[in-house]
Amino acid sequence: AIENARLFQQSDLISEFVHELRTPLSSLSTATYLLLRPEMSQEQRDQIINNIHNETMRLNALASSFLDLARLESGRVQFRKSVFSLADLMYECKDVMSSKAIEDNIQLRVESPEGLPLLEADRDKIKQVLLNLLSNAVKYNRPNGTVMLRAEAKENEMVIYIQDTGIGIPDEALPHLFQKFYRVREHEARTSGTGLGLSICKQIIHGHGGRIEVRSKIGVGTVFMIYMPRLSTTVPRDDNAPAKKANRK
Ligand code: ADP
Repeated sequence: AIENARLFQQSDLISEFVHELRTPLSSLSTATYLLLRPEMSQEQRDQIINNIHNETMRLNALASSFLDLARLESGRVQFRKSVFSLADLMYECKDVMSSKAIEDNIQLRVESPEGLPLLEADRDKIKQVLLNLLSNAVKYNRPNGTVMLRAEAKENEMVIYIQDTGIGIPDEALPHLFQKFYRVREHEARTSGTGLGLSICKQIIHGHGGRIEVRSKIGVGTVFMIYMPRLSTTVPRDDNAPAKKANRK
């Protein structure tokens, strides 16, 4: 029965994926048809080629995210857990995102209290989640906006906050945000995306026994909160995890 449920779930995912392929494929076919018409000016051709490039990039992102999500949903992904410094990971993510933030004129800040406890999790997967949320926080921000990455330890859990001063999310969209392929209608014209990033984040965090929540206010900003279980025993730290202390700003 479990296997059957899993197969049904996979076939639903595949039908949704094929449905999502239709729009970029039809714009690619229109674009190539237009390119074949002799009356097109060079400027129009350049524009069409630019559209083809954007649509193929989107298809590429869609395919990788789809594979990621399908593997996570099938339960076949084994998390490779280690004990590492969350503070170091946050600074590392800030470094990765910094050029994109500078490009968009967004200030990116990290705040982690002294003595933040170590985290036990799959470091690469948590990095993927943080980068995804930071990338959204930059993408859906406003010019000269701010993104803050912050963490704190509570009694039984660690909380990571990814907060932006962006355009915000309408109340009616919030319950659908973590659904596959969901994109806020008002944001669709603004940037391209797959609508799979948040579903992937949710799968990864739930797979670690944690949870992810969101709060948002239109025109003020959005904050995503990740709650992760706290390390119960004192385990030696993973010395392979890159230390980034020198780069802290
Ligand atoms: P996408 O590839 O479209 O960014 P996601 O699954 O990452 O897909 O996000 C789903 C939708 O949630 C986005 O299309 C966007 O409308 C909305 N969203 C996500 N993060 C933010 C944010 N920080 N601020 C405003 N809207 C956001």
